[in-house]
Amino acid sequence: MTPSLRRFIDWVAAYTLSPPGAVLRMAMSVPAALEPPTPQAGWMLAGPGSNRQPRITPERARVLAVLRPGEAMAGARIAEAAQVSPGVLRGMAEAGLLRPALLPLASRFARPDPDHPGSALGPEQAVAAATLSRRVAAREFSVTLLTGVTGSGKTEVYLDAVAECLRPRDGKPGRQALVLLPEIALSAQWLDRFRARFGVAPALWHSEVGGKTRRETWRAVAEGQAPVVVGARSALFLPFPDLGLVVVDEEHEAAFKQEEGVVYHARDMAVVRARLAGAACVLVSATPSLESLTNARTGRYHALHLPRRHGGATLPEVGMIDLREHPPERGRFLSPPLIAAVGAALERGEQAMLFLNRRGYAPLTLCRHCGHRMRCPNCTAWLVEHRAQRRLQCHHCGHAESPPAECPECGSANSLTAIGPGVERVLEEVTDLWPESRRIVMASDTMPGPAAAAAAAQAIQDRAVDLIIGTQIVAKGWHFPHLTLVGVVDADLGLAGGDLRAAERTVQLLHQVAGRAGRAEAPGQVLLQSYSPEHPVMQALVSGDLDAFMAAEANIRRPGHWPPFGRLAALIVSSEDEREADRAARDLGLAAPGGEGVQVLGPAPAPLALLRGRHRRRLLLKTRRDIAVQPLLRAWLARVKVPNSVRVQVDVDPVAFL
Ligand code: ADP
Ligand code: ZN
Ligand code: ZN
Repeated sequence: MTPSLRRFIDWVAAYTLSPPGAVLRMAMSVPAALEPPTPQAGWMLAGPGSNRQPRITPERARVLAVLRPGEAMAGARIAEAAQVSPGVLRGMAEAGLLRPALLPLASRFARPDPDHPGSALGPEQAVAAATLSRRVAAREFSVTLLTGVTGSGKTEVYLDAVAECLRPRDGKPGRQALVLLPEIALSAQWLDRFRARFGVAPALWHSEVGGKTRRETWRAVAEGQAPVVVGARSALFLPFPDLGLVVVDEEHEAAFKQEEGVVYHARDMAVVRARLAGAACVLVSATPSLESLTNARTGRYHALHLPRRHGGATLPEVGMIDLREHPPERGRFLSPPLIAAVGAALERGEQAMLFLNRRGYAPLTLCRHCGHRMRCPNCTAWLVEHRAQRRLQCHHCGHAESPPAECPECGSANSLTAIGPGVERVLEEVTDLWPESRRIVMASDTMPGPAAAAAAAQAIQDRAVDLIIGTQIVAKGWHFPHLTLVGVVDADLGLAGGDLRAAERTVQLLHQVAGRAGRAEAPGQVLLQSYSPEHPVMQALVSGDLDAFMAAEANIRRPGHWPPFGRLAALIVSSEDEREADRAARDLGLAAPGGEGVQVLGPAPAPLALLRGRHRRRLLLKTRRDIAVQPLLRAWLARVKVPNSVRVQVDVDPVAFL
């Protein structure tokens, strides 16, 4: 392990108050990779020696052009690069043009060619790319926040920085690059673009990469043979010997926060990893977090901005539909103006998308007679109806049951009613309204796995779909050129509950969803259904002035020392025994740290007071920004003895407050 990775492990352990062993285990997640790899068979050029004169067909010529003398390559890779079938390779071996050879590990991870011709950058892109490349070429630590409206071509810009990172410079070899994506399973389009830019695929790292590939990837990274890795947050712990660039795409995404085990924020740790490796770090987003914006504003990070959509596409126009004025029909969820707009888009032969961040058919099942609500036995949560599967499901613990024929409380038959919409229910409404349309639902349960997501994206791109109904999955960086209308079924949804970042997150999510519309020639339109169109979040979305919104948000948080102007750490106390949870939480409350600039809120029952059968209580430590929370937390936890049956989870810089 390099000194920089060892220091990173210690740093993460100290920052998150985790045992160093737990962090070390993340960095050593594939012990089998330390064994010598099993060789794999491939092909290489047979070279001169045979005096036969085999026929060189165009297919064979392409194969010969792909292979370099003395270099072995896997058959599948040759076939892909030369666009031939594997049979062609066997034929060439028989003809004496190729011979079998064992592959070195390195050749299984093709080297992206930094000088592979990419797209010609627009003028603003070119300036941003040159600036980033200069920082990468400096081979020292820097952080740059790259912002720009959705579709402005940020990806193309940072891929240029990746190319620079791979290039040898001043007699030194190229360095490795790491790109973190929030949801790698949804990244088929991103991978296509990488291939278009570099001619080959990058190494992938996420929880679904298993077995031999996982072993080989880990080892190839350690040996410096995987030049580019694209991965989920765990890729930060790969043993790069010479990391030159770390990119965090969609840096505002809450998915970068790991909530179990070692609780850490991959965006923040990416900055640390880059600092310890002497690498450039690039944070990318159309809707940056207030944390990163503040760091850019105070000069701690560099800032780069792309002001326009690439290729002259305009930003979509965002309008509000006041649901008080235009209520949907009873038991329906689409208002007349939204129905008219969708109908018109379909009429024009364009695609429309309806966004609702809720899986299933209905979030609540209620008895019309006695008011009983169907709840999860293990969690403080309602059961969500999934009508297609005839199940009531808990989205927190996975508990599932069949919908009962009668109310379990009062015994009335046929009294249970679905309340509120999920995407399945919107699909039902849409099917009624436009039975001829071709529809697709994009949600984590209807599109399990990367292949399903890629197929859905392809179908949409190929115009095999007219109407897309989706959860937050549809907000993720997709490029759908024929999509011109986006309707948000319930724009108020994310504001309920109201944690610290509810408004910020709602603006980010809805702005990203809106950004899917009008990405090609035809202009896009976005309609937000809301009961409170005057809310600052809705106004920000309509005006498109996110800077003003974030400035106002900063002004709300600054006086109370809320992040990023102060620090937070949460303690989550949980036990199967409710009294024990209460007692431990109370003891922690009594031993809480205090003093100037230090405040402890709670203990209080967590919003999810019961989760997977455990009773949960929360305490929140809030300090001024110039006070480090770790020493306070360490001393605090050392003062209180909690029984073994009680778990105290520490969450430094919490993102979720459930
Ligand atoms: P962002 O990441 O800022 O949302 P993208 O990088 O996804 O934007 O770019 C939006 C679209 O424009 C994509 O389809 C991309 O392929 C295309 N694009 C961006 N830059 C260029 C370029 N220089 N030449 C050709 N196409 C480009
Ligand atoms: Zn009842
Ligand atoms: Zn549950």
